[in-house]
Amino acid sequence: MSAIRLALVIPCYNEEEVLPDTNEKLRRKITELMSAGKISEESRILYVDDGSRDRTWELISQFCSQDPQIMGVKLAHNRGHQTALLAGLECAEKFCDCAISLDADLQDDIEVFGEFLEKYEEGCDIVYGVRSSRESDTAFKRGTAQGFYKLMKAFGVEIVYNHADYRLMSRRAIGALSDYKETSLFLRGIVPMIGYRTDYVYYTRGERLAGESKYPLKKMLSFAMDGITSFSVKPLRLLFSFGVILLCLAVIGAIVALSLGAFVGFWGIFCLIGAASGIHLIAAGVLGEYIGKIYLEAKKRPRYHIEAAAGVFPGNPEE
Ligand code: UDP
Ligand code: MG
Repeated sequence: MSAIRLALVIPCYNEEEVLPDTNEKLRRKITELMSAGKISEESRILYVDDGSRDRTWELISQFCSQDPQIMGVKLAHNRGHQTALLAGLECAEKFCDCAISLDADLQDDIEVFGEFLEKYEEGCDIVYGVRSSRESDTAFKRGTAQGFYKLMKAFGVEIVYNHADYRLMSRRAIGALSDYKETSLFLRGIVPMIGYRTDYVYYTRGERLAGESKYPLKKMLSFAMDGITSFSVKPLRLLFSFGVILLCLAVIGAIVALSLGAFVGFWGIFCLIGAASGIHLIAAGVLGEYIGKIYLEAKKRPRYHIEAAAGVFPGNPEE
């Protein structure tokens, strides 16, 4: 078997502070793997600039001009981590046997690349990087993340516990991923649906090298909302059950009140109306979330446009 052509795919959004350091570490790592004969000389590092507003693209272009093993693509807008990652994987598919996706801040331990590659050689198409501990996260991030996994499970969505987007995918698996045409991407939900042979690699998640998290609370909440509403219709069913229970209670209450000849005062009615309107609004909100999705999916908009490319592409990027 000839040496594996590996692509490292790294989405970057305003990462000027970490990129020089990250690039040095990754270059050293792939050189080491090449010298050990684990990956081919045709392996590449592919940075995807997700419409950054700082010097990220300048840095990427500079890396590309200095080293033929580095490539970059720049999305015309900030489309979010998941879409940037997909864009990178779809570019990498053209020239690699397999790709490992990781964050620009190198919180994912690059020392386990070797283990990923061993699993690939054993015939796995998808290898998930799973955090063995979450000590480096804040208590808040840890708590909300764990709550999220539990909620997803309760809603019947199959996701890998403590796995973010640090994973290896074979070319075949990336091809299958491209067949999922949805616009609201939640890769952690889609990848397990692909099937194929999978395995896990365990690692300790470190601290961000520099800069701040590019996932503020607002983005995290919208990501969680996407995860749930893109994969599960349970919230809709829960709403229905809730409505039935409420109706039964109201009927029983009315029967009891009537049989006792009880008098319902102004405040009682006021609270009842308030509660009922609240429930209606929540219901409308949940419905709106789904309708919004249908609306967006029905448009079938392209998910990204590549604005520029840098570095030597072994395949033809226009293909
Ligand atoms: N990222 C991106 N687009 C965005 C937000 C983030 O490409 O709109 C990238 C970011 O540059 C990083 C990765 O997604 O490589 C994960 O982001 P971050 O490390 O800030 O998230 P956290 O580790 O705090 O969850
Ligand atoms: Mg991070």
